[in-house]
Amino acid sequence: MSEILNVPEIFGSDVFNEATMRQRLSSETFGAWKHCIETATSLPLDVANDIAEAMKLWATEKGATHYTHWFQPMTGITAEKHDSFIVPTGDGKVIMEFSGKELVRGEPDASSFPSGGLRATFEARGYTAWDPTAFAFVKDNSLYIPTCFFSYTGEALDKKTPLLRSIDEVSREAVRILRLFGDKSTKRVIVSVGPEQEYFLLPKSLYAQREDLRLTGRTLFGAPAPKGQELDDHYFGAIRTRVSGFMKDLDEQLWRLGILSKTKHNEAAPCQHEMAPIYDNANASSDSNQLVMEIMKKCAAKHNLVCLLHEKPFAHVNGSGKHNNWSLATDSGKNLFNPGKTPRQNAQFLVFLAAFIKGIDEYQEFLRCTVASAGNDHRLGACEAPPAILSIYLGDELNAVVESIINGSQYEGPEKRMMRIGVDVLPNIPKDTTDRNRTSPLAFTGNKFELRMLGSSQSVAGPNIALNTIMAEELGKFADELEKAEDFDTALQELVECTLRQHQRIIFNGNNYTQAWEEEAQRRGLSNLRSTADALPHYISQKNIDLVTKHGIYTETEFRARYEIHLDAYCKIIRIEAQTCVDMVQHQILPAAMRYTADLCNAATAKECHSAPCKAEKALITKLSVETDALFDRCEDLKSAIALVPAASKEEAVAYYRQVVVPAMDAVRVHADTLEQLTDKSYWPYPTYSDLLFY
Ligand code: ADP
Ligand code: MG
Repeated sequence: MSEILNVPEIFGSDVFNEATMRQRLSSETFGAWKHCIETATSLPLDVANDIAEAMKLWATEKGATHYTHWFQPMTGITAEKHDSFIVPTGDGKVIMEFSGKELVRGEPDASSFPSGGLRATFEARGYTAWDPTAFAFVKDNSLYIPTCFFSYTGEALDKKTPLLRSIDEVSREAVRILRLFGDKSTKRVIVSVGPEQEYFLLPKSLYAQREDLRLTGRTLFGAPAPKGQELDDHYFGAIRTRVSGFMKDLDEQLWRLGILSKTKHNEAAPCQHEMAPIYDNANASSDSNQLVMEIMKKCAAKHNLVCLLHEKPFAHVNGSGKHNNWSLATDSGKNLFNPGKTPRQNAQFLVFLAAFIKGIDEYQEFLRCTVASAGNDHRLGACEAPPAILSIYLGDELNAVVESIINGSQYEGPEKRMMRIGVDVLPNIPKDTTDRNRTSPLAFTGNKFELRMLGSSQSVAGPNIALNTIMAEELGKFADELEKAEDFDTALQELVECTLRQHQRIIFNGNNYTQAWEEEAQRRGLSNLRSTADALPHYISQKNIDLVTKHGIYTETEFRARYEIHLDAYCKIIRIEAQTCVDMVQHQILPAAMRYTADLCNAATAKECHSAPCKAEKALITKLSVETDALFDRCEDLKSAIALVPAASKEEAVAYYRQVVVPAMDAVRVHADTLEQLTDKSYWPYPTYSDLLFY
């Protein structure tokens, strides 16, 4: 009999959260910490010392021997360096110590993280500083302290710092709007984020036999299995025993860390699954999602499985994404994207909606760039994920309201009437419409927006930084205008009407997967940045630099550093894939095909001695030989392509990898996959798609 899990008891038990702090800190220290959080001021050293002491006691009771400043370098994953608590007492013994200084500031030897040129070699050190708005936790016998990571000269070297800055900015501008609507009490507006995480699970033994999976996280080869996902028999289907063991374990670990894992189910592709948490504030959600990805991998290993977070582990079946549910709420929990019930609430909602629509239209390229990666290039625009064209889906009801405002016409409410903002009530906008548009990259789902363009392995920080900053910008402009208006109601009506009319092109309620939409989007002048190579140059447009520097999210130097790192990462990933491709062809695929062909030749010769017919052997030998030659040639082409990457600029290299190296890899794959289909399975050097997906 398995033990019964007391979920409320274990939930958050490994987190030094507010409840634990209240319990473990003196009321003065707790109050001082609370004050720092609320006023965003730094912690006095004596307060930090008290907190550090309490943290250490709590953590050592939980078995921690070490502490680590946990940070999120620009690679998009997390980093940690562990120090033990031990301090020698001089008599050959030690005591466990942890000071406020060690809690608040760290200096990991982190010179090997990419800095996009932000750190010169003479000052390669990076520093970490505790983010007291995120809770410390215990994992694997270490006390984890969430931190920001920055350079000697103060430049942000991570994803957390700009996220925190963007959260503050959107809060500040949103509060200005709330004041205009008579809200005097809201101090902060909170960004809420709920990221749904897709992933694949494979048996470890099969994974270990594939060099491509081990080195690149995806299969570079593989003929389609006789069966794919056409029967839809996996989606929401019964969960395999080994997998459900994994999921149970995962939930328990996440709950202990205070992560609100809520929903788990099988996804569309075989071996694909999803975990959705209950939403939390953007900073906590971003930290949690990093932990979710890491714990998924570790937990899978315990169950003899491997968790693949790559966006496209297998050709011919769906890849994995992340749905980023995003909204704004007041500090008392009022969702600002809730259409509301009274004309006043409706009007306020329409202001936030208009700001969002305008922002997405104006900064569509920026948002697109934040989800650009080599892995995600396999999904966006491939008819399994939204296109690379940004548009917003509003649903029938809200769309009707928007159209009536724009056209000054009647809308189809319970009774037909004109829409006067601040006077009329909106029709009921259902949260869960059954016809919810699954093809939209950015859908309004009743009281939040769901951005569906993220790749499964990406940090959610990037796109949320963009959403927050864009929203801050537009709300700020609206506030500027409305604050100086003489007649608020007239100004409001004009502002919303005019904004919606000017930015209506970004609204699209139809099927995003069709060719017709691509053409229509082009007519509307929307960007269609098909690949990372197409998208990235837009990242550092003057418009985006102005936006992020105006709001203090990044300095121009910090922003350009991110750009460099994205370019670099793309080139490195494609290069590793191409090299792995060559390696597998030369050391595994060609030798296997050649061995099989040689054995067939011997068999045919032997049969001919007995005057036996060998039509099949001969036909196969011919086909195998033609494909082997073609594979050899294409592999030589790929090798030359890799050797000729332009060195003049990173932009050129990115374009070259996309235009020359990627197609050269595709050309290799065609022949390798044909050979797989022609060859006796016992000769084939790695597990096939059928082995992997239908184990
Ligand atoms: P689905 O998109 O799969 O139909 P739901 O609409 O129920 O699922 O919710 C998906 C995610 O959206 C969950 O993680 C949920 O916590 C999150 N979510 C719900 N409300 C909000 C909100 N106000 N802000 C951010 N995320 C939210
Ligand atoms: Mg969803």
